Amino acid sequence: MHKNTNPAIALVESIAHTSVADCYQCGKCSAGCPQADKMDVLPSVLIRMVQNGDVKEAAATESTWLCVGCLTCSARCPKSVNIAGVLDALKQISIRKNCIDSKYRRTVTFQKAFLNNVRRNGRTNELEMVAEFKIAGFLNDFSIPLALKDAMFGPSMFFKGKLHLKPGSPVKDKALVKRIFDKCSKLTENENDAVE
Ligand code: SF4
Ligand code: SF4
Repeated sequence: MHKNTNPAIALVESIAHTSVADCYQCGKCSAGCPQADKMDVLPSVLIRMVQNGDVKEAAATESTWLCVGCLTCSARCPKSVNIAGVLDALKQISIRKNCIDSKYRRTVTFQKAFLNNVRRNGRTNELEMVAEFKIAGFLNDFSIPLALKDAMFGPSMFFKGKLHLKPGSPVKDKALVKRIFDKCSKLTENENDAVE
């Protein structure tokens, strides 16, 4: 694949393993997207923005975090552009450049709590993950309703066996999980300056 000379476009293309230049704006991706009616910018328009080098602006849209990664767009594209991969790249860039649409900051806080948990334990410890999410969420916006939300479900979930107080059995090879996380972090280390 030809490497784009614009570092921001090249970054998106390397994360998504695709060439945005191949898009000829037929709109089939937008027409098939189940989230399109809620999006502020349609998937095909996001691809056009990336083609133009407006990567940070594309990453800051609501659409970036409304995408559920269903891959319908990528499957429909007559030019085999991996639109879902581009949306995933925009999600990563919105986190790195701190330009997440304000409605989705809690979504990102939850994702971070989940990943931190897997990084530490090799699997999720539900109680620890919920505690980290609630504390980080509270420190973000001091929202008491968020901190208390869902607390009433705790006892009934516990008695139905849906909330485990003890961590599950440990994974056999925690070092392997650590190596996966280290490798992913290394891949992204030098890319922060690509997007202005
Ligand atoms: S379906 Fe493919 S070619 Fe058509 S607008 Fe979407 S990305 Fe571009
Ligand atoms: S992957 Fe995202 S952008 Fe593509 S069709 Fe699904 S929700 Fe829409």
